[in-house]
Amino acid sequence: MLSFSRQILKFATSKWLIIAISLLVVGCNTTSKTETTTTNTETAEKTQPTTAGSEKTEQPGDKTAVELPGEKTDSKELSAKVLMRPDFIGRVKMAYMSAKEIPALAQKLFCYCGCDYTDEHTSLLDCYTCDHSVDCDYCKGEIMMAFKMNRKGASVAEIQKAIDLNWGPHYPFYEQPSDAIKKYWKKRLWAPGAGPTKFEHPNETKPIIDPFTGTSDSKSKPMSKKGDCCGGKKKSKESK
Ligand SMILES: [Zn+2]
Repeated sequence: MLSFSRQILKFATSKWLIIAISLLVVGCNTTSKTETTTTNTETAEKTQPTTAGSEKTEQPGDKTAVELPGEKTDSKELSAKVLMRPDFIGRVKMAYMSAKEIPALAQKLFCYCGCDYTDEHTSLLDCYTCDHSVDCDYCKGEIMMAFKMNRKGASVAEIQKAIDLNWGPHYPFYEQPSDAIKKYWKKRLWAPGAGPTKFEHPNETKPIIDPFTGTSDSKSKPMSKKGDCCGGKKKSKESK
């Protein structure tokens, strides 16, 4: 009995030894591989010091049902337009970081806070090229929903629909819709047409799902201040 358990112990020990040795060997291999790569690609390393030798980190904006061929370069330029400041913290920082990841998608979404009138914004992206979104729950919520859905592989149509149904009923200017929303209604992918669907009709009491927490939030508010921010009047004046 004793010798049997000893044998087991011996077997177990040798098994662990083998595992330990193979792990060491694998470890050595990886190290030497990394070293070779590093020496061979010194020039490449200069341009990309942080990623050389390490495995590719997943960029949330990469996996897209959203990006079309040729859209990558556009996205880089759009992303550079998104504001980022060191004093952005918490939800504000998360929202602006998300906008930087998915600027091309943000450009295909409509912001229901009323900034189409107050600031002449034409898409959700405009809310992120200036500090407009800092004070606006709608802008922050919309980009967070888009970011999360995009990461899960949702299509542009699905994301537009989710945002339109969540914030659409709270759009403040249904009685006199702006040119921007009329254009958006015509072009949107899930229900292109001249106006809102019956699910978007004004309903101030309809609770809004807060994508940060996943819970419904009755306190969510569009921005309170009206202003002429960078995505608005200045831009349209320049293009005139
Ligand atoms: Zn807005």
